[in-house]
Amino acid sequence: MSDAQHPTKPRPVVQPWAQPFWDAAREKRLILQHCEDCNKPIHYPRIACPHCGSARTGWRVASGRGQIYSYTVVVSNAPSAFVADMPYVVAVIELDEGVRMLSNIVDCDPQQLRCDMPVEVTFEQLDAEFMLPKFRPLT
Ligand SMILES: [Zn+2]
Repeated sequence: MSDAQHPTKPRPVVQPWAQPFWDAAREKRLILQHCEDCNKPIHYPRIACPHCGSARTGWRVASGRGQIYSYTVVVSNAPSAFVADMPYVVAVIELDEGVRMLSNIVDCDPQQLRCDMPVEVTFEQLDAEFMLPKFRPLT
């Protein structure tokens, strides 16, 4: 239960066209939407291709690998469910497929991170319904 003393982390709001992404994540699989007409990867999931406007989209298994495009280390935060996680890393990951994903870098010393560092996907249980794709340095 969420209240001022015991806040809970926000849950993803899932649009119908993004449901396959979250269903796969629950099985610890990272998939990306692809356009069936121009063949480009799409992330975040959309109802139509942002490149060519086609509504013919499908899903492909992603490599789960990429590089840190940009990141920040959160060391101070207003009272929230995230305070217990500090310091934590919020990052934009450029996946090998060419799309960027906002996530966290985990299983790391934040001081050792750098842009362009190779990372791989890992999954973290949020609650009974959601498994969140996160990333860790590729060793
Ligand atoms: Zn397209």
